[in-house]
Amino acid sequence: MSWERQASIKSREELKLMREAGIINAEALKAASEACIPGMTTWDVDAAAESVLNKYKVTSPFKGVPGPIPFPASTCISVNYVLVHGIPSKKQVLREGDVISVDCGTNYKGFVADSAFTIGVGKISAEAQQLLEVTEESLYVGIAKMIPGNHTGDVSAAIQEYVESHGFYVTKQYTGHGVGRKMWEAPQVPNYGTPGQGMLLKPGVTIAIEPMVLIGTEATKVLQDGWAVASAKMTLTAHFEHSIAVTENGPEILTLLENGEAPVTIRDRGILSQTLW
Ligand code: MG
Ligand code: MG
Repeated sequence: MSWERQASIKSREELKLMREAGIINAEALKAASEACIPGMTTWDVDAAAESVLNKYKVTSPFKGVPGPIPFPASTCISVNYVLVHGIPSKKQVLREGDVISVDCGTNYKGFVADSAFTIGVGKISAEAQQLLEVTEESLYVGIAKMIPGNHTGDVSAAIQEYVESHGFYVTKQYTGHGVGRKMWEAPQVPNYGTPGQGMLLKPGVTIAIEPMVLIGTEATKVLQDGWAVASAKMTLTAHFEHSIAVTENGPEILTLLENGEAPVTIRDRGILSQTLW
């Protein structure tokens, strides 16, 4: 992956296209979430997302990403101790109590949307529920820092502080990133950092913020397929992500449903497109 040194500034028209990409992506994630039930496979969940992408005649930037094998699916689906980059499989059947994260991207009119959620399959443990709530909340805590004049370090530090204050861990090995014409643009935005450091946030900067949170360890390991990144202690993990634009009026979430809601919420937040941050 190539990183440009400067974040690109998107125009009003470009942000409109990114918002449209985000709506399709959110619909795909919502469809995927509805397939996260006992007895379904992670392949079925991917197919649910892909059917929405197909309906709009768009593709996912995930498919074909170079690696040990070119990434073979439209979504990354990561169950329980797998933190990110899980490959959907016809052999992986979801069971009551699992925690599943779905990360989906959309290519649309030259722009990319990137967003992820984690959800419980049926009834989950109290610890798993808390992990999901804290990870989701840390995303919105980070988003709230995405105002002109702040730096990426303010976002990173806020996420880290929120997660660690609840006794969980952020990975230091995988980060959020600029998003726009490409899925990975400058800057990298880790889920840990120091306030005031990093890149200055200006209106038109677009970044995918994505807390990746683990129970009991920050260490990860890549599994045998060369893609899936798991907790080194095989503990539960969670991942939430939105693509965000910095605007004069504050952060704007670009990966919402047309009605302004997130595709999946652990704690319902209502219409996020009207939220005053
Ligand atoms: Mg993603
Ligand atoms: Mg991302």
